[in-house]
Amino acid sequence: MTPRIQHYVDGSLTDLSDLGLESATAGQRVLVNNPATGATIGELQCADEQCVDHVVRRAAAAQKAWNAVGLGKRSAVFFQLSHILRTEADELAAIITEENGKTLPDARGEIARGLENVEFCAGLGHHLKGEIAHQVSTGIDVEQLKQPLGVVACITPFNFPAMVPLWMTTAAIAAGNAVVVKPSEQVPRSVLWIADAFTRAGLPDGIFSVIHGQKDTVESLIDHPLIKAVSFVGSTPVARSVYTRATGLGKRAQALGGAKNHMVVMPDADIDSAADAAVSAGFGAAGQRCMAVSVIVAVGECADELVEKIAERARNLTVGPGDSQKSDLGPLISAAAQARVRGYIDSVEGSDATLVVDGRTGEYPSEGYFVGPTLIDHVTPGMKVYDDEIFGPVLSVVRVPTFDDAVSLINANTYANGVAIFTRDGKTAREFKQEIEVGMVGINVPIPVPVGTFSFGGWKNSLFGDTHMYGPEAFHFYTRRKVVSTRWPQPDESQISLGFPTH
Ligand code: NAD
Repeated sequence: MTPRIQHYVDGSLTDLSDLGLESATAGQRVLVNNPATGATIGELQCADEQCVDHVVRRAAAAQKAWNAVGLGKRSAVFFQLSHILRTEADELAAIITEENGKTLPDARGEIARGLENVEFCAGLGHHLKGEIAHQVSTGIDVEQLKQPLGVVACITPFNFPAMVPLWMTTAAIAAGNAVVVKPSEQVPRSVLWIADAFTRAGLPDGIFSVIHGQKDTVESLIDHPLIKAVSFVGSTPVARSVYTRATGLGKRAQALGGAKNHMVVMPDADIDSAADAAVSAGFGAAGQRCMAVSVIVAVGECADELVEKIAERARNLTVGPGDSQKSDLGPLISAAAQARVRGYIDSVEGSDATLVVDGRTGEYPSEGYFVGPTLIDHVTPGMKVYDDEIFGPVLSVVRVPTFDDAVSLINANTYANGVAIFTRDGKTAREFKQEIEVGMVGINVPIPVPVGTFSFGGWKNSLFGDTHMYGPEAFHFYTRRKVVSTRWPQPDESQISLGFPTH
């Protein structure tokens, strides 16, 4: 029998039928596959509007008590969660690999990056400090408080089953909110493990809920009057619609979208290390990272040597199941993703571009959703492989004559998540970081995901809203500021004044 994938409500794993609601068995059922084998690993039932309402109301009831818990005790939950994640990471990594397909070292890597957010939030007492100004007028003090919003919806994508939920939930909870997470229906189990880890770390029941579903569930969540803010990560069209819907209802929203990340290689760069970086950032996680490099911009005469070195390395990579130590990259998430990526490679045939390494065929298992590393040279804007986010192990090379051409090419792109430049010249690097219109920039760093003490976010169609995720900006997003002016007058000071108060 196919295992049922449960929801997480009131601090425990729950079937919708256990919630005692009339419509509890009405939601659509979705099968979850292991992408390396195609085998079904579970079945989930989508939460309908009534289930969403039930879970959000339970979260709202629990949130008030959580907000009353002292900051030291709240902080202790994060220290304990950090310990659990450090000691039990292998268990979570195995779940990530089984449902997402990425290799075990890559799964451990995403847990380590999520852990940064947990540990940043252990310092919540510092992040929640307000401001005070004494004596702004005679006998009057002004203070600014940071207060939680209430219940926050977190909607996450398939490609980071643990890290993205940790980006969102840690600061939201640290700030005194309750969260309702709607993970990707393709990877629903990792976040259940995280919810349980939070409970074991001492988080009260109802503060971290997980409901499964697709578009309808997301829309019911966004529309629910007790949902005060929406954090979303996923593809650009969905990010745009989630942002528009939430803000149309007057809610706070941040929606991170897709990407097309360029890596510029200057003629003075160390070509071997640039080729290593291109292969690592282009083919790691089978290219299914929002910060994956998908376009190499070869400036001037370095192109031939660079293409040759990338091709040589790409051909030596091993494609296979994520739980095999031999595998460098695993499968794509689904049969549909495999067909889509293969279609992009097909589109190169008959064009002016050159297919240098073709990932459609190779030595990898026939079952599962595999596509091998693919390298396409002489790509130009206007080709589908350049214009679209492919989200697979496909690296395009665009050749340009000068640094200025590289900057113009990148600045004309509608995506602006990450970018990198490889050069040995400080002046070029400095000009690049000033001129480039992209949210996260690497100088000789191919995947510049900011550490947890900074915040993460792109520009243009890679982020709707103005607040980046995790780090200091998260405490801004998940709190609202209240300014209190205080005066303690003496009885004999009382006086009536109808004028507008001035200093
Ligand atoms: P997706 O947009 O298909 O799904 C994301 C979430 O939205 C899932 O929970 C899904 O169930 C839900 N959803 C899907 N369609 C919906 C709809 N019409 N209305 C409301 N909700 C809907 O994204 P995905 O395929 O899971 O993830 C891959 C995408 O995410 C890529 O485009 C990648 O670049 C992007 N991504 C971006 C970042 C970033 O930081 N910018 C990080 C990770 C992934």
